[in-house]
Amino acid sequence: MIYLKTEEEIGMIAEAGAIIAELYRLLPAEVRPGRTTGEIDRFSERFIRDYEGATPAFKGLYGFPATLCTSVNHEVVHGIPSDRRRLVEGDVLSVDCGVKRNGFFADAAVTLPVGEVTPEIERLLEMTVQALESGIAEAKPANRLGDIGAAIQEVAEQAGFGIVRDLVGHGIGREPHEEPQVPNFGRRGRGMKLQPGLVLAIEPMLNAGTANVRTLADRWTVVTADRGVSAHFEHTVAVTGAGPRVLTR
Ligand code: MG
Ligand code: MG
Repeated sequence: MIYLKTEEEIGMIAEAGAIIAELYRLLPAEVRPGRTTGEIDRFSERFIRDYEGATPAFKGLYGFPATLCTSVNHEVVHGIPSDRRRLVEGDVLSVDCGVKRNGFFADAAVTLPVGEVTPEIERLLEMTVQALESGIAEAKPANRLGDIGAAIQEVAEQAGFGIVRDLVGHGIGREPHEEPQVPNFGRRGRGMKLQPGLVLAIEPMLNAGTANVRTLADRWTVVTADRGVSAHFEHTVAVTGAGPRVLTR
């Protein structure tokens, strides 16, 4: 089901999104060598619950046990926070977080360096941000879903990185995951027409090596097939008559 949102509903999603934006402004100071992903998860859960009417949207969703998905290095997405997972200098940590506030959902992800990382990893992070921004720029009326995927794919492939195809973005707002699916690849001019009121979570995942991924025995953690490093950035974006409006910035 595709739900188009009113301007008022988009405002409600933006209120949920503002909490994630504020959390991600603070996290770089928390993500440092010696910290565990469990500690970062508890910090984030407290931060979210301090806002009246706000809850972590992922906790309990499909049985997921935590506030954040924390995915380190070759882990792509859906890693489970743990006090046994201690970050070390040179790691990268992908954080993915959903917030529900007053009945509306927002979703965003960011990949953070732990201390100093290699120039190649720095470039991977930069290009993933650029892929996301290129996708966002296409989220405007009269464009089609394939324009978003094509823009993301072009940035990833020109940079020489693998673009994950097995996981996609999604509609969001009344539910944490709504239709349509938003692939990070595609062809311009193809797919459904974008219209004002459509709200999408756009979320490219770029791999240093192969685009192929697999899921670990914990049935959550998705990793790169070649154990190369992966990066993930995501924003919740509304298609409006005035162009794309990012609700998690
Ligand atoms: Mg997400
Ligand atoms: Mg998402």
